[in-house]
Amino acid sequence: MREFKIAEPRTMDELAALLAESEEPVAMMAGGTDLIDELKSGVATAGLVVDLRTVAGLAGITPEKDGLRVGVMTRVVELAEDAVVARDYPSLKEAALSLATPQLRNVGTVGGNLCQRPRCWYYRDPQVVCRKKGGFNCFAFQGRNKYHAIFGGSGCFIVCPSDLAPALISLGAKATIGTAKGDKVVALEQFYAPPEVDVTRENVLAKGQFLKDVRVPAPKAGQRAAYVKLKERGTWDFALVSAAVAGVVNDGAFAEIAVVMGGVAPTPWRLRKAEDALRGKPVSEALVRQAAEAALKDASPMRENGFKADLVFAALKEAVMAAAA
Ligand SMILES: Cc1cc2nc3c(=O)[nH]c(=O)nc-3n(C[C@H](O)[C@H](O)[C@H](O)COP(=O)(O)OP(=O)(O)OC[C@H]3O[C@@H](n4cnc5c(N)ncnc54)[C@H](O)[C@@H]3O)c2cc1C
Ligand code: SF4
Repeated sequence: MREFKIAEPRTMDELAALLAESEEPVAMMAGGTDLIDELKSGVATAGLVVDLRTVAGLAGITPEKDGLRVGVMTRVVELAEDAVVARDYPSLKEAALSLATPQLRNVGTVGGNLCQRPRCWYYRDPQVVCRKKGGFNCFAFQGRNKYHAIFGGSGCFIVCPSDLAPALISLGAKATIGTAKGDKVVALEQFYAPPEVDVTRENVLAKGQFLKDVRVPAPKAGQRAAYVKLKERGTWDFALVSAAVAGVVNDGAFAEIAVVMGGVAPTPWRLRKAEDALRGKPVSEALVRQAAEAALKDASPMRENGFKADLVFAALKEAVMAAAA
């Protein structure tokens, strides 16, 4: 591992100033469960690591009048065990409980989970310089791509590995971005950026910016939601495909619905065509199949990952049925 300096800012202002003014490449460390691996292997390099654990005000789950504020340094286990989350946002609890292992949930944070780097095996190989690392080729495109994107890949076919992101986006969460000039609030969906914006990054954070919190709106009357994660292995694993469904159900039909998938695209992937197909009609397996078929018209599977199309239907069916039940 290359040598780096560590900074331990005490306040968000100090953090923002450090990030904005550093002349060396900076990495923010939350729980370190992803970052330390990257630094050790040399996939990431940093002259300065900024420890977020010392910054006051970044952790904690706070009920507010219009919803729930979740600070980025809240550990995943705290989200999974929170009573308000269990009562009002059961799909978020399910997503938190589904991810990684108890040990990782104990150390990993909400912000780290939302900002974790992709798992593409070429990216994680320190010897390989693919487009994401400033090279010219995407080796997954013509190489091994079983776990890669079927939607939205454009020069890079990573999938968003986060379980929390689809669940939060389906619930309408917003992200607060901290900057030296004050906070910016964006829909969490807009926090993620596809490869065509900048293939080397997965979100819109610019130099000097950090994710500060996510805010989940208060549940609407009659809100229902579900999170379904399909994995290759029975024990801990990243999602092959996951589906987060949230909406309002009246007389067996979704009056409002949001469908967001993980594991299928470089960003959490909103299935708007499926939402249109599902809205206002009595839920049935045939309707979900129609919805999946409509959404899959936009899919471009590669040589090894065509099976994900079947999993899109399977995850969507399970999540829609569970939310509507
Ligand atoms: C074996 C294993 C299995 C896993 N399985 C799953 C899984 O099934 N599902 C899943 O969703 N995840 C999974 N993960 C990912 C795990 O959840 C992440 O490692 C963890 O959430 C990252 O959290 P952290 O706090 O340790 O982040 P760190 O490792 O500290 O940071 C991760 C990245 O986010 C950046 N970052 C952190 N906080 C901020 C912030 N506030 N603003 C801007 N950037 C920030 C860091 O700079 C770094 O690039 C797995 C990880 C491992 C090692
Ligand atoms: S999918 Fe992205 S990260 Fe993976 S090899 Fe291609 S460019 Fe690199």
